[in-house]
Amino acid sequence: MTEVAEVPVAERRGEGKRISHWIAGKSVAGTSGRSGPVYNPARGEQTAEVDFASVEEVDRAVQAAKEAFPAWRALSLSRRTELFFRIRKLVDEHRTDIAKLLTAEHGKVLSDAKGEVARGLEVIEYCCGMPELLKGSFSEQASTGLDVYSIRQPLGVVAGITPFNFPAMVPMWMWAPALACGNTFVLKPSEKDPSASIFAAELLKEAGVPDGVFNVVHGDKVAVDAILEHPEIRAVSFVGSTPIAKYVYETATRHGKRCQALGGAKNHMIVLPDADIEMAADAAVSAAYGSAGERCMAISQVVAVGDVADKLIDAIKQRIPKVKVGDGMSDDSEMGPLVTREHRDKVAGYVARTAEEGGTVVVDGRESAPEGDGFWLGVSLLDDLEPGMKAYDDEIFGPVLGVTRVATYDEAVTLVNENPYGNGTAIFTRDGGVARQFQFDVQAGMVGINVPIPVPVAYYSFGGWKASLFGDTHIYGPEGISFYTRGKVVTSRWPDPATSKVDLGFPQTR
Ligand code: NAD
Repeated sequence: MTEVAEVPVAERRGEGKRISHWIAGKSVAGTSGRSGPVYNPARGEQTAEVDFASVEEVDRAVQAAKEAFPAWRALSLSRRTELFFRIRKLVDEHRTDIAKLLTAEHGKVLSDAKGEVARGLEVIEYCCGMPELLKGSFSEQASTGLDVYSIRQPLGVVAGITPFNFPAMVPMWMWAPALACGNTFVLKPSEKDPSASIFAAELLKEAGVPDGVFNVVHGDKVAVDAILEHPEIRAVSFVGSTPIAKYVYETATRHGKRCQALGGAKNHMIVLPDADIEMAADAAVSAAYGSAGERCMAISQVVAVGDVADKLIDAIKQRIPKVKVGDGMSDDSEMGPLVTREHRDKVAGYVARTAEEGGTVVVDGRESAPEGDGFWLGVSLLDDLEPGMKAYDDEIFGPVLGVTRVATYDEAVTLVNENPYGNGTAIFTRDGGVARQFQFDVQAGMVGINVPIPVPVAYYSFGGWKASLFGDTHIYGPEGISFYTRGKVVTSRWPDPATSKVDLGFPQTR
């Protein structure tokens, strides 16, 4: 491998820092001459500059991963498990440190950031069970003297490309199962909040993961394309917006790679007339405005059935003043800023256009945005939205909750099923029969019954349908293990010791 300049730790920490790549177990300064700003969204200030990788730099990371693969793959399951328990312990011990990095670069409140780390940790814990997860099957005497068995083996070098909104957890969804299965990894995190990935790399090294097993390259489309086209990368996991997910899936598969590409969402929450209104209003407020609505499982659209709308809107309105918007580092903040100034302005634009499109602005978040240079926006509630309006059709990805009024359950389900996205959905009702019918009828990958954000626990897999997923495996859980391994079936016959001419050097028993 070409010699590269290592970045001293002092330059990697603190304000004004430069965020560099992580290749073959060390921090490596970028040499492409390209970089991008990283902001503290609550202060609206740039706090770091992140190096953007060139094609050659991506290749260097892939070569490091390729060199590390044979030994990592050959490591016994017991030793790899031991390393995973150590990783688990270190991530657990550094929960707050990781969460602070998330709050500083993403803006989400610290309690939410800790929740993100906790959900990522669950995936690492699931992967600690790798000896069980990687078991094959065995058929003795499939034919006379012949046995057949299956084994699952790693793919080689695999890559992950991740979005800004879960800078710690989504990479963990990928690298934990990939490494547990014996692959080596190249991560290209979001350039908006890249520090958590470098911290993860440092923790993996501290845990004893060999150099080159886990690498990080930062960057934009140049780095992504270099990954998608690299002949040594066997599989790509992607999480991000739908247009990029589609592009990644098409490009990666055209280059012969296995690909799972999770896209955007427009999650509807149906509230039936018999629902517990207080419970539904609490759920709508936390699921719409938590993390400033920058969650792929956020509820962005309530579908109010029958006469429930006025009661529900009143209950939501009462709760809105309690959503205190402020710096995520402050204990009393419930919602932080948006990730960038441009994104904040785009989200505010949807609220601005609502009235002229025929919708009603019930609460206007532009009026309650805190003062200051941060990328602030208060929470908005829009009523009378319908398909065809921008605020209904688009994934807004901000603290904006829309309400659509329909007369019947059937109309509500039709809205969900006709939506191009199919990530998550939820129904609020006291009727078990209707809830069961909903889970049968609805076209979405993750369904909540009186649960607004039905993110599957780590031992199930996460993924949407329709434009929310390109590829056929969901991420983490059993499908993650399947994605990062390939099957091999062995058919074996051994000479019968009783009739074999081979002198075994001891008497035969039969
Ligand atoms: P994004 O699509 O803009 O970026 C995702 C990744 O793709 C980043 O690493 C980015 O650098 C890279 N990228 C951006 N533009 C590219 C281009 N033109 N060519 C190649 N690569 C490019 O998404 P984001 O804004 O970071 O994240 C928000 C989106 O992610 C939302 O749409 C959200 O719904 C989605 N998301 C989906 C899930 C899910 O599980 N389905 C989870 C989290 C986020």
